[in-house]
Amino acid sequence: MKQKILFKIMFLWFLLIIIPLPLIHDGYDASAGSDPFITARQQMIKNDLKARDIDDPAVLKAMEQVKRHLFVERSQWSAAYEDHPLPIGAGQTISQPYIAALMTQSLRLKKHDTVLEIGTGSGYQTAVLAELVSRVYSIEIIKTLADRADALLKSMGYRNIKIKAGDGYRGWEEYAPFDAIIITCAAGRIPPPLIRQLKEGGRIILPLGDSLFSQKLVLGIKRGDTLEMKTITGVRFVPMVGESEKSTGR
Ligand code: SAH
Repeated sequence: MKQKILFKIMFLWFLLIIIPLPLIHDGYDASAGSDPFITARQQMIKNDLKARDIDDPAVLKAMEQVKRHLFVERSQWSAAYEDHPLPIGAGQTISQPYIAALMTQSLRLKKHDTVLEIGTGSGYQTAVLAELVSRVYSIEIIKTLADRADALLKSMGYRNIKIKAGDGYRGWEEYAPFDAIIITCAAGRIPPPLIRQLKEGGRIILPLGDSLFSQKLVLGIKRGDTLEMKTITGVRFVPMVGESEKSTGR
């Protein structure tokens, strides 16, 4: 009788304490090497990218490779595969996955391309680009963000990314011309040095507009001294600061 009661107590103990142990913590297994968000990422690809207009297999593969949760704070991990921007500190945000994919797809990148990115932020978009092309140069005006993204991307094994802290308005002359340029902060007009640093036939994409409520995602293709422009959709990005503000009088 006593033995039966003891057995029941032990069984209950096992059910209540031992089995749920792995669930305590954040609700997922974050041990090294494991990827607790494979399913969430695949859902994101199916529902937020493929179900819309992202159909370039290389872009979809890159979006599947890059673990977005590692670019945000741990407290945001559970929201990392939802289709909206998230805070990354210093008042900045990581782009919404769909917009990151759309900007990448619009650039029609090729394996041997060299890309310039203005606005490294968390480094998420940088990683997506680095999955697709041979070299990515990225400039971030907030030094703490530039340093953090640099360390994170290096720790992930990316060897084809070069980041510097500074104002992206003037581009990166040393490595120009670029096959493509992506600006992930909103400018009132395209900084002329960036147009000069784009190859003939090269593509530039950016949120164009002074105010948060009137930004348009635009794509420019370089034809001689001008850009052939196309508007893609309405967007909301943080503003490009520094010299760009002066030149637009913001
Ligand atoms: N693509 C990033 C999100 C960028 S948010 C990601 O995936 O996380 C826009 C970034 O542009 C911010 O980090 C902001 O500090 C940076 N930025 C703003 N003005 C800039 C400038 N003139 N030069 C370089 N970076 C700038």
